[in-house]
Amino acid sequence: MSDLSELYQELILDHQKNPRNFGQLEGANHHAEGFNALCGDKISLDLKTDASGVIEDLKFKGSGCAISKASASMMTAALKGKKIDEAEILFHQFHDLVTGKSAPESGEVLGKLKVFAGVRDYPARVKCASLAWHTLEAALHDDQKVVSSDEGDD
Ligand code: ZN
Repeated sequence: MSDLSELYQELILDHQKNPRNFGQLEGANHHAEGFNALCGDKISLDLKTDASGVIEDLKFKGSGCAISKASASMMTAALKGKKIDEAEILFHQFHDLVTGKSAPESGEVLGKLKVFAGVRDYPARVKCASLAWHTLEAALHDDQKVVSSDEGDD
């Protein structure tokens, strides 16, 4: 694990130890579950959106490695109060960042989420970092099936 040490920056460790928005959400109107077979990460995501398309609240539960938990925690913190459209943009920017399709310094809307740029050098970790986001996509598209992250890099 020593070659991954740079990934475990303070922010990631903090979110892994003290996940934000952890638990079940009362009154959720979107839900999806994701599973990363490569690492064994699991996530269950609840969202509550209002009629104007704003994500009023969201919560996750799950188990898995530090990267997957920190990513889910930081995603929920980043998305609360955002519009679904903005969440979709963030999803694509995050995906391009962790898969190396965009430069680590690009994606100005990502903010703190940029700490995950380091996973691009560890292909097995890309799925850990992106699991929460794929689960978000499934939830927003009312695609409640378990996400299989076992196909390709995305
Ligand atoms: Zn993982």
